[in-house]
Amino acid sequence: MIHARPVSGRYRRLRLGANAILIGILLGIPWVRIGGEPLVLLDIPARQFHIAGLVIFPQELIYLWMILALLALSLFFFTALAGRLWCGWACPQTVFTDVFAIIGRFVQGWKGHRAPRKIAAWRVALTHVLWIAVSVVVGFHLVGYFVSPYELLPQLLAGETPPTRLGFLTVMATLSYLDFGFVKQTFCRTLCPYARFQGVLMDADSLVIGYDTKRGEPRGKKGRAEGDCVDCGLCVQVCPTGIDIRDGLQLECIACTQCVDACDGVMERLGRKRGLVDYRSLVSLEGRRPVEYLRPRVLAYGVLLLLTAGAFVVTLSQREPMGLHVAHNRDALSTRAADGRLGNAFTLRIENRARSERRFSIALEAEGPPFELVAGVNPVTIDATSAVESRVFVLAPPDTAPAEALREIAFVLSPVDAPDHRVVRRMRFLPGGASIVP
Ligand code: SF4
Ligand code: SF4
Repeated sequence: MIHARPVSGRYRRLRLGANAILIGILLGIPWVRIGGEPLVLLDIPARQFHIAGLVIFPQELIYLWMILALLALSLFFFTALAGRLWCGWACPQTVFTDVFAIIGRFVQGWKGHRAPRKIAAWRVALTHVLWIAVSVVVGFHLVGYFVSPYELLPQLLAGETPPTRLGFLTVMATLSYLDFGFVKQTFCRTLCPYARFQGVLMDADSLVIGYDTKRGEPRGKKGRAEGDCVDCGLCVQVCPTGIDIRDGLQLECIACTQCVDACDGVMERLGRKRGLVDYRSLVSLEGRRPVEYLRPRVLAYGVLLLLTAGAFVVTLSQREPMGLHVAHNRDALSTRAADGRLGNAFTLRIENRARSERRFSIALEAEGPPFELVAGVNPVTIDATSAVESRVFVLAPPDTAPAEALREIAFVLSPVDAPDHRVVRRMRFLPGGASIVP
């Protein structure tokens, strides 16, 4: 048997719809452009992260951290409210494992819920061919988050893909094939860190998949036991992680609701009320009180989420449209020129975060000896959402005593068309092999 026994029911239908939407989103995101900019592109070689029209440079990792904090808080909020909703309904691991199971059952000729007694070799081979094809598509789109698919696809079709990209694609496709086809929910049971800490995010009022013990026990065949559970074992057979939900809440349960649908089907056939296995809070399953959604924990996560979102918007609204990063050239910290002048070499990384080409000028501000800035190109023209590196020298007059030259100097970046707008970076001029003071 490949994967768990299939099930039908109201949650299954909802999940299939949700899965289709999520697959569309996951595979669609790398293709989406907003005003010519990718919706999401983590361009590591160019050291730029494109997220929802925002271009984040390495010096601005605060934005990336804030986005990650927002995602983490959203996970906390929804876990407190609805348990492991992410695991069972939205995690790509669950979604694509389900796609592989559907392909397997379709190709291998399952009749309803039953696996065929004998599966022809060609059916098994075709299953793996289709799994590999899907893995290549998934791998391509995962790479598409790092390399634009508009660039990658023509390269693949022309057979001109650089070896690193081809290797990356091969690794992602192979991992997808092995993970969704063979590892499956073992990953959730043994490797997933979220499964380990989600318990601390939940309380007795969080929604979970649970078994109504009072109603179900004592279990036994119809007419032979008082409880509603007829011990048919269907809830165990459909469970992708292979657990028995009647044993209580377990770490392995990914809240996929397959056992709810399976048990509801049994109850309907027996003419009994649905919900022996249900998606409810533990206190509600124990009959202590109805499900309570607005609780201090949920409200606390919700407020934190809103505050972080507000801080993100405020920080974003104050974002500089340009950036300047200055570093001493360590191979020539301090040199003396032939004419006796003291010199320091610096590398400037100038970022144009605007959506249009701009010209920037670099100036030097310093007290003490008349320092001179020597730059190959100044002003410098930079393409939209791009960065350039420029090597410059700062020179002090020949008669400057080292003690006098050891001073703070300031590099000032300003757009040529808006000279009042300035970004200032302070450095220390080193008169002779002294350590760098940032
Ligand atoms: S599916 Fe329902 S009736 Fe059957 S064993 Fe599970 S809990 Fe009992
Ligand atoms: S116990 Fe039910 S909800 Fe949990 S993983 Fe198994 S089938 Fe899914």
